Amino acid sequence: MTQREAIRNILSDAADLDVVYDEPMSRHASLKLGGKAAALVAPHNEAALIRVVGILRKNGIAFLPVGNLTNLLVLDGGYPGVLVWMRTLDAVTASEVNGVFEISAQAGAPLARVTALAASRELAGFECLAGIPGSVGGAIRMNAGAFGTDMQAITTCVELLDADGTIKTLTRTEIPFSYRSCGLPADVLITGARFALQKGDAAAIRAKMAEIMKWRQEKHPLRYPNAGSVFKNPPDLPAGRLIEELGLKGVRHGDAQISKQHANFIINKGRATAADVMALIHLVQQKAKEEKGVSLEPEWAIIGEGI
Ligand SMILES: Cc1cc2nc3c(=O)[nH]c(=O)nc-3n(C[C@H](O)[C@H](O)[C@H](O)COP(=O)(O)OP(=O)(O)OC[C@H]3O[C@@H](n4cnc5c(N)ncnc54)[C@H](O)[C@@H]3O)c2cc1C
Repeated sequence: MTQREAIRNILSDAADLDVVYDEPMSRHASLKLGGKAAALVAPHNEAALIRVVGILRKNGIAFLPVGNLTNLLVLDGGYPGVLVWMRTLDAVTASEVNGVFEISAQAGAPLARVTALAASRELAGFECLAGIPGSVGGAIRMNAGAFGTDMQAITTCVELLDADGTIKTLTRTEIPFSYRSCGLPADVLITGARFALQKGDAAAIRAKMAEIMKWRQEKHPLRYPNAGSVFKNPPDLPAGRLIEELGLKGVRHGDAQISKQHANFIINKGRATAADVMALIHLVQQKAKEEKGVSLEPEWAIIGEGI
């Protein structure tokens, strides 16, 4: 029996799940390209999530959680395991206890919903993260950030599904956050998080968010499918500036192109493949090493089989 057949057998009786098999990631990833996942599974609730992850672990089937797929490249040969799509676990609530303001969100909630709720409740802290298109779980995994702040700065605790099948809560200090990483193993599933915020001025919060959204509209190549910054910034120079200095702005491989607008973005101009994108990634890495002595590390999660 092939792994794909085994996955179908295992999932055939699972309750409270949406399942699609051999699903092309070009349908879901923000880059609008990528190979097929053997299965894409969206649990309807936390109990179904715990159940299906238990079944996958018991049967030794590889799996990875995914949120909004805005920082993910699935290679053209596809992902041979199960992608666990968190999008239906998306509750977001705000509360105040003894003057402490908090937002609590499930992992599949879009970060945009959290920032909108913060603004509507006049809670400050999320302004600089406005416009990041990921989910709460993906944002914590990547320690997403912008304008000098990141998820680590506002997170008080993270709920996760541990290898033994129980939901555990870790406080911020128990999570080994670093630049664009939360340091947890790849198959640890984040199920939710809580954020500490301060009461702020409604007009000031909205004005800051609008300013940041305008900056994103102007600086990022949002007219084309992309997955945000390709490379982490090296210590001395933003990756975009470095790539620009290497003369690589606008370079194309197939329908993948290093954006002319922002050199740390690769855009899909139509029918790009993951191999086209990887060719550009390798070209940038090689030139950065040869000409500047800098090792550039991708920010994206790159998964699956292929070049
Ligand atoms: C136009 C654009 C602008 C962007 N701007 C920024 C920016 O300013 N700053 C920034 O940091 N990023 C930015 N990004 C990248 C991206 O939006 C963030 O990294 C985002 O937080 C990823 O979330 P996601 O839900 O899309 O994750 P996905 O792409 O679905 O997954 C990314 C990684 O997180 C893991 N993951 C997802 N959900 C979970 C979960 N519940 N539990 C455990 N692991 C999980 C996946 O396995 C994968 O390894 C941008 C992207 C785009 C397209």
